[in-house]
Amino acid sequence: MKNHAELSETFNKDEQRVNWHDETLWWVRQKRDKASHLIPDWELLRETASQIKHNVLSNLGNYLEQFEQNAIKNGITVHWAADAKEHNEIVHGLLKKHGITQMVKSKSMLTEECHLNHYLEEQGINVVDSDLGELIVQLAKEPPSHIVLPCIHKKKEEIGDIFHEHLGSAKGEANPQILTETARIHLRNTFLSRRAALTGVNFAVAETGEFVVCTNEGNADMGAHLSDIHIASMGIEKLIPQRKHLSVFLRLLTRSATGQPITTYSSHFKKPRPGQEMHIVLVDNGRSVQLGREDFRNSLKCIRCGACMNTCPVYRRSGGHSYHTAVAGPIGSILAPNLDMKQYSDLPFASTLCGSCSNVCPVKIDIHTQLYKWRQVIVKAGYSDKKKTLAMHGMAKTLASPTAYRLAGKAGRWVIKHTPFAVSNPLNPWYKQREMPEAPKESFGEWYKKNRG
Ligand code: SF4
Repeated sequence: MKNHAELSETFNKDEQRVNWHDETLWWVRQKRDKASHLIPDWELLRETASQIKHNVLSNLGNYLEQFEQNAIKNGITVHWAADAKEHNEIVHGLLKKHGITQMVKSKSMLTEECHLNHYLEEQGINVVDSDLGELIVQLAKEPPSHIVLPCIHKKKEEIGDIFHEHLGSAKGEANPQILTETARIHLRNTFLSRRAALTGVNFAVAETGEFVVCTNEGNADMGAHLSDIHIASMGIEKLIPQRKHLSVFLRLLTRSATGQPITTYSSHFKKPRPGQEMHIVLVDNGRSVQLGREDFRNSLKCIRCGACMNTCPVYRRSGGHSYHTAVAGPIGSILAPNLDMKQYSDLPFASTLCGSCSNVCPVKIDIHTQLYKWRQVIVKAGYSDKKKTLAMHGMAKTLASPTAYRLAGKAGRWVIKHTPFAVSNPLNPWYKQREMPEAPKESFGEWYKKNRG
């Protein structure tokens, strides 16, 4: 498995793509800024959202039970899944019981986290992602690269080629409107022929037992309204206590995500329509472990707006796939090590720790502080890069001794001046994008003694 630096290198080979990826996401970030500045109480809203989520995380067990009781009263069947495997088995069991072999799915990052599509395909079930961006990456046999803009890494010409191959659009067609129309016709037929639909959940209301799904395309509604079985997959942290709290989260979510005042569709699902079955699968998959990690529990406040990705200078120039996990970017880098510390030990280091992610987060997660803390946990656990750890130990010893520091400085200046290739060579990744500085004639200490001493 390649690490973040290696995968970024692959993305960075196409400089033009890196540039427009960077510029496009920065444009989205600027839209978010404009939208937030139009609300005078923006900071109060963020603080309120953070406090509501704090309350939820502190009483998660109670709210989950309250939600379950109310959902059951409404006629929804509630399932509990301890991990991804259980989640996938529950979904498959429901489809199998009804003899269903085709399912339409609306954007759900949780099912990406659980690798549901792959699992169901192995069981002979055909799944069609109905969100336009998700459909594109599904046809391209790739995972989404962004939680809100899943195919932001693809050029329209590439999408044209994918649609030509899979959906029969004209060769070379790259007009976004025509391509969208092609997807629309394809999806319309899919919606009409599928008996089961799976949606994600943006918010679940404990006091009413209902859940809310936010989309811009209305695809969750199309799938759910036309299906005999509606299955909703939800991470256990998606709860809010009361319906009135939606007024806080719905105002924050889309402004932070795309700069829109609200999603085109914010659909409430409370009970199945007559003749329909409605199921909700409450998934833990490591969340209760994260809840028990005092330094990292706040990461569960995340409402998946993607703002931290759009602002992150590393994400914008390395692309979502370089994070090799379902949720990329800064938030993914603090969630993934909880799932597998060894496999994702590179991610907390994929950051400049500039703090921009924490500044834009609508629920005020201290993302960059958690990235920094994960680094310490990972080093202590022995999962950090061995060469880097050794170098850091050497550096600590040098900085702790004035004599060693002076000698190292002298040696460094000599090497830079007389044998620069010893440092600046293709074997040293640090110098791939950097130029060797000119060696100063003397150290600051020597200069100070001469001029001020
Ligand atoms: S961590 Fe904050 S900014 Fe990032 S996706 Fe979650 S809610 Fe949005």
